[in-house]
Amino acid sequence: MRVKSATTCRPASSVRRRNPEVKAAAHHTETGFQNPDPGLRIAGDFWRWQRERRRSGVPHPPALGYEAFAAQWSQKPDFTLADDAAPRVWWLGHACVLLRVDGLWVITDPVLSRRASPLSFAGPSRKVRCVVDVAALPAIDVVLISHNHYDHLDSATVRALARRSQSQARATRFLVPLGLASKLRGWGCADVHELDWWQRHEHASLSFDCVPAQHWSARGLFDRNRTLWCGWTVRSRRFGFYFAGDTGYWSGLAEIAKRTGAIDLAALPIGAYAPRWFMQGQHIDPQQAVQLHRELGARHSLAIHWGSFELADDALDEPPQQLQAALAAAGLNQRDFWLLRQGESRAIQDYRTAIDEQHRHGLPSTNQRESSFNSRQ
Ligand code: ZN
Ligand code: ZN
Repeated sequence: MRVKSATTCRPASSVRRRNPEVKAAAHHTETGFQNPDPGLRIAGDFWRWQRERRRSGVPHPPALGYEAFAAQWSQKPDFTLADDAAPRVWWLGHACVLLRVDGLWVITDPVLSRRASPLSFAGPSRKVRCVVDVAALPAIDVVLISHNHYDHLDSATVRALARRSQSQARATRFLVPLGLASKLRGWGCADVHELDWWQRHEHASLSFDCVPAQHWSARGLFDRNRTLWCGWTVRSRRFGFYFAGDTGYWSGLAEIAKRTGAIDLAALPIGAYAPRWFMQGQHIDPQQAVQLHRELGARHSLAIHWGSFELADDALDEPPQQLQAALAAAGLNQRDFWLLRQGESRAIQDYRTAIDEQHRHGLPSTNQRESSFNSRQ
């Protein structure tokens, strides 16, 4: 379905000290960008949060320990399953989702390094080993970046994808929100396109819409909100996918389905939500993820942004438990909102077959996992 309100992508210049597109839209400011609801995050709260989490010793380890958690929630991905006619999705941990649709490979926020940090020796490190490296990925056609936080934009992974693109039959195209193109070109990406919210980019049989999110951006101390943050939709003739990136709850998110078309699968964040007083402006919690799933009218949703890094006060195993409770309260279940293992995949139109596959390979079924969570609550 085509949208009248989305404008076609045209290359935009990178954001300089003064934003050249100021006054173009309400989310543009003199020096960068702001949320549609700008008052949700208060400067200075960060240090109160850090003091409080040190005092209370959170996040706690998962109830079964890190090793058992990793064994339960990760597996080696199998990309040969891409021969299915139906679109297929792999969750590769945190916000990295790999999509196979119309014979093309699309990946979101590829962060396949050990740390989500500017430093190799400090900063949030993976509690579950990455299930894949760039060399083992299929040849990627399109990379979607949501914003410049380290757990979403990783220089080592992007550089490796750019290097690999040079030997591919089809070069990798990188789609980024306003302000990030020059950085990616500096990392060796030859084919980069910058989009503003509600702009559209067409590539082969797919169309990509850059859509709003309630979040912020910064990579260093002096670049807060200088580059834009966003979600993405990916649309083929028969299939609609929405990747929310990082977002707090905002009533305008429901507009995305109304303006871009029906959503068959929504990748929605469920982790890094605690404490709510600090995180609610930037990260939805599992209850809000279920609310958003319904407001978007998504046929299915997939839980992302949990289980890899301890970025907030919620323990690694809390988001899936909270999601199960929120689904039950809403009269939904895991057929509606998927909890995949890191590395696991699912064909979008053939959920039953996916469950059978799991049984054949002796993996715990979704229902078995459901009961193991329930017994721990
Ligand atoms: Zn972020
Ligand atoms: Zn994040």
